[in-house]
Amino acid sequence: MARIPFTNTVVCDGCGVEITWAPVVLDQQSYCCQDCAEGRPCECDYPPEEEHGTQQTVQEFAAV
Ligand SMILES: [Zn+2]
Ligand SMILES: [Zn+2]
Repeated sequence: MARIPFTNTVVCDGCGVEITWAPVVLDQQSYCCQDCAEGRPCECDYPPEEEHGTQQTVQEFAAV
């Protein structure tokens, strides 16, 4: 039951990182963190996953 049903992807309006956590909403725009909301550089664009293989796992959603 640890699956969160994401219907859409929230992307930071500052750095463009995919936000999978609670975004910082400022002026009706979503930011990854407070730094991005203030126009400062952040490190949220670094994915937590260290492994970058050549094979990309494609998730197929069987929406029937
Ligand atoms: Zn950002
Ligand atoms: Zn950030």
